[in-house]
Amino acid sequence: MVKSSILGYPVIGENREWKRALEAFWSEKISEEELLQTTKQIRLDNLKKQQVAGVEQIPVGDFTLYDRVLDTSAMFGIIPSRYQWKGGKVSTAHYFSMARGNENAVASEMTKWFNTNYHYIVPEYEGQRFQLTENKPLTAYREAKKELGIEGKPVLLGPYTLLKLSKGYEDKDVPAIILQLIPLYQQILHELQEEGVQWVQIDEPILCTSITADEMKAVTEIYSQLTKNIGSLNILLQTYFDSVEHYEATVALPVAGIGLDFVHDNEQNLQNLKTHGFPRDKALGAGIVDGRNIWRSDLDAKLLLLETIQQHVKAEKLWIQPSSSLLHVPVTIRSEQKLDSVITNAFAFADEKIKEISALRTAVLEGKDYAAADFADSEKALASFNELPARKRQDVRDASSGSVLSDSKRNLPFAERKVKQQEKFQLPLLPTTTIGSFPQTPEVRKTRSEWRKGDITDQQYKDFVNAEISEWITIQEDLGLDVLVHGEFERTDMVEYFGEKLDGFVFTEKAWVQSYGSRCVKPPIIFGDVAFTKPMTVEESVYAKSLTDHEVKGMLTGPVTILNWSFVRDDLSREEVTNQIALALRKEIESLEAAGIHMIQVDEPALREGLPLKKSEWDHYLNWAVNAFRVATASVEDTTQIHTHMCYCDFNHFIDAISALDADVISIETSRSHGDLVESFNEYHYDKGIGLGVYDIHSPRVPAVEEMTEIITKGLEVLDPSQFWINPDCGLKTRKREETIAALEHMVKATEQARQRLGVTAGK
Ligand code: GLN
Ligand code: ZN
Repeated sequence: MVKSSILGYPVIGENREWKRALEAFWSEKISEEELLQTTKQIRLDNLKKQQVAGVEQIPVGDFTLYDRVLDTSAMFGIIPSRYQWKGGKVSTAHYFSMARGNENAVASEMTKWFNTNYHYIVPEYEGQRFQLTENKPLTAYREAKKELGIEGKPVLLGPYTLLKLSKGYEDKDVPAIILQLIPLYQQILHELQEEGVQWVQIDEPILCTSITADEMKAVTEIYSQLTKNIGSLNILLQTYFDSVEHYEATVALPVAGIGLDFVHDNEQNLQNLKTHGFPRDKALGAGIVDGRNIWRSDLDAKLLLLETIQQHVKAEKLWIQPSSSLLHVPVTIRSEQKLDSVITNAFAFADEKIKEISALRTAVLEGKDYAAADFADSEKALASFNELPARKRQDVRDASSGSVLSDSKRNLPFAERKVKQQEKFQLPLLPTTTIGSFPQTPEVRKTRSEWRKGDITDQQYKDFVNAEISEWITIQEDLGLDVLVHGEFERTDMVEYFGEKLDGFVFTEKAWVQSYGSRCVKPPIIFGDVAFTKPMTVEESVYAKSLTDHEVKGMLTGPVTILNWSFVRDDLSREEVTNQIALALRKEIESLEAAGIHMIQVDEPALREGLPLKKSEWDHYLNWAVNAFRVATASVEDTTQIHTHMCYCDFNHFIDAISALDADVISIETSRSHGDLVESFNEYHYDKGIGLGVYDIHSPRVPAVEEMTEIITKGLEVLDPSQFWINPDCGLKTRKREETIAALEHMVKATEQARQRLGVTAGK
């Protein structure tokens, strides 16, 4: 019989109760016992919701106190020696020190979970012996059964994905690691079987990346080992975020079911299903409802897709499920009271997606008439939504069609622009600058919230922001920086600020999703056509410029970053939406230029994270992403200098795309891994202006002059002094005033010394 299944549910609670409990515990306001009590309640509430909604396969063990990958490392004792863990059950204190560091040991590295905005803690292999410290899925299963009578489906991160996401080993170590992992997984599965568990979900999203045929063979071997002696226990091997790379080998794995994503697969899974069929004896977990985006499903279209799938899979083997865990979407639209109801009715967050799954299951099982109300609601809501004039504006569609998008080339090539720009700006060798933001002190935040509440007038707020700008212009002049910034005091968030001023965006009250640890974000929602309405940054930049003889960089967030950090409408391609944003930003850039701002920085820190999982799709993405940046920036005068900024340094594979942006100057994070960066410049000749971040801004520590000198010296070994800029790694908004000034003083000093060594003085 057709079943409904959920792969994972958001941990954070309807009002971020989870976040509050964690943070209260970290700041010692509640005890560990209270933390565990509160989070247990949240976990049970989450399960209860799914139970009430009639979900048949309810995931257990997907809940976490920080991150699920970290849970897995802790479960297997994959704990770096610096945390001084002595074996046995991992205490809460040990667990959190891996996540957040402690006085004696730095935190573990954190990185993005595939192509999502969720971050996991990277497991570190140090040659340690693994051990099963606790059978967490079993604990979770027992709890759900005892407290709620739920026959849960334990969820586990699969061994191959775990291996691939870990660091600290070389290829030659892989067989030994796998050999260590297999018996631990076997033990977990064996104990689950003894307990009477029927289905286990093992997540292997890595199968949706470009893994080789040999790697796929290793996966097959692992699973034939894992499934020995598990008796009546069934494994559903779950994949998501794209199509599986090796369809035939994947569906042939010795497991009882396979979960496939039919939303983010570019129809490749569906195509493979049609071409190669699906094993008759296996269950198919069909990911039908989008687990990563917030839009209500068109139930009729989904039902049609299910009918196509059913031509290859018998109803009793079919599970209807979201395309991935629901941790990537907010909890419920019930919390949204202020938005136009036509818009909120077009949303489906986690709870609403669960309802959609139930409706689809009913329709498949008993016929659409039995879910008539759900189907009618869906149709009506989407029809009204699509009728909103903001969804389709002829002016925007006309503007973003055709020729304007190929108008993405600067008038002169870089080498010629460089000469003209240098004539105009007369910058010293190794110009110094910063990335844009200066400290957002409690006072800045307090004043902004007073203004938002209406406690102070627009004019008062503006005066306040101007006073901050003025103060920091003086500070920058006193420090001796060459290119100044206004400081971004008027912005909370680099995407939200623009989203609030452009047409086509809405902002929710409580649509939070977990980003990393207890940190949640509330992404803007792009629901309509994006258009420029009025200048967004001109006033502040012009004011800053009026206070100084130095150049002041205008400061914008780039089109691809705005896209990648928002929830995006899914009726247009991401490329089309990005082009709309790019054209809106082009107007902003032209306004800045017309107002006398001749250096303009367009930040693209999220360019890289939009890369598709499959390498074969990278070029296509990079082509349109780079083109959008160029559409936004190409119309300026030869002498207007376009800067960009990115805060990661994984330059290899990527340097062509960075160069293709054709920005006159890029500033980039380097300080944490300058070695790698230097290497990539040895291999690739980069000709444009480049500022290597000379110190890490994520720490309050003020680095010594010598530390910065070292990075400058290394950089100058591979880059020409005439292209070399000096700046911190990223914006300074999270730092305190004193440490910022002290660090920048050191940066200027290191620069002066470097100039002396190069035989030039700082004078213009
Ligand atoms: N201009 C932004 C700032 O300085 C850049 C932030 C970022 O790269 N994430 O804060
Ligand atoms: Zn940055």
